[in-house]
Amino acid sequence: MKISAIDITHYLLPLDPPFRPAWDPVPRTQCAATIVRVHTDEGLTGIGSGDLMVGFSGHEHLFIGRDPFEIDRHWQVLDNIDFHYGRCWPLDIALWDLKGKALGQPVFRVLGGRKNKMLAYASTGELAGPEKRAASAQDLLEQGFRAMKIRFHHHDPREDIKVVEAVRKAVGDRMEIMVDANQGWNMPWDTSPSWDIDRASEVAEVLEDLKVYWIEEPLPHHDFRGMAALRRRVGIRIAGGEMNRRWHDFREMDVLGSLDVYQPDAVLTGGITMVKKIAHLVQKNGVWFSPHTWTNGIGLLANLHLASAVSRCPYLEFPFDPPTWTIQRRDFMMEPEDRLMIDPEGYLHVPEKPGLGFTLDEKALSPYAVNFSQCVQ
Ligand SMILES: [Mg+2]
Repeated sequence: MKISAIDITHYLLPLDPPFRPAWDPVPRTQCAATIVRVHTDEGLTGIGSGDLMVGFSGHEHLFIGRDPFEIDRHWQVLDNIDFHYGRCWPLDIALWDLKGKALGQPVFRVLGGRKNKMLAYASTGELAGPEKRAASAQDLLEQGFRAMKIRFHHHDPREDIKVVEAVRKAVGDRMEIMVDANQGWNMPWDTSPSWDIDRASEVAEVLEDLKVYWIEEPLPHHDFRGMAALRRRVGIRIAGGEMNRRWHDFREMDVLGSLDVYQPDAVLTGGITMVKKIAHLVQKNGVWFSPHTWTNGIGLLANLHLASAVSRCPYLEFPFDPPTWTIQRRDFMMEPEDRLMIDPEGYLHVPEKPGLGFTLDEKALSPYAVNFSQCVQ
């Protein structure tokens, strides 16, 4: 089998009402999705998504005519492109989808197949006051979720802590609560400062008393030593690494003991090919791999397959914060029957169909097709 063409198309889904993520000072009135299709001379097509493929244009010839199963070689080319230009890891995802389809196996089984379902934690996206978030926690509990993640980003973290207190009061010990401090990185237009280690420690100690499961990104993504020092100082688990891009970042964090939960996202960091290796590297020290999945439904699916194959963490991130971040918005590019939702026990099941196990909803996508330049918001 040979790669015959690589098509990259861009879409913008309007969001009305807008989605106001805690990590972005600008509300989002549209959501971008880039779809990568790897076609072959045998008629099979692999599909990936999750990032904009910045810098890929002009490099197609490095793949066309090659065997799609040469994934390690293709990974090296993508890693070179990542160094010089941008993150083109959705192509690696498409190659794994293609490999699964060619073998007639779901990707998680090709990768090792540790389990076929995972407990999902509902990952909320917006800031909400104590009453509103406590009510949404109750809703999530009724839907079967056994864990949820709350965002921090009020100017004064004491306002955020009040939200966690209200949720703990509402759900008792029936749900695990994670907290995302979102101090790891900023959007291009956001020049606000991050917490320092003293503020991170103060918050972490309060959250520990509230039996919070982990605190995520309490310090900037490059502060490997600071996170290691914080981890020694407090008892709560420290999570991070969602935006670290290079293998060497994870090697350094592993050596320094920076984190309890490593969160590289296969669509943003090295593809399934590299993140599988990172997961094995860090988990040998008894800590967890639990990928970030906050891109779109295909990104969630790719990380679900990988985490099911290799993760020892009980929970996987499930981006979900209705009414502004819904399954319909997140998974709009997938046929409705392929969209992902938990079962009543809180489990997310890995599709057993070959590849990643979804079909693009071309009809749903086509009205939203745009040029690449319109996607950079
Ligand atoms: Mg996060």
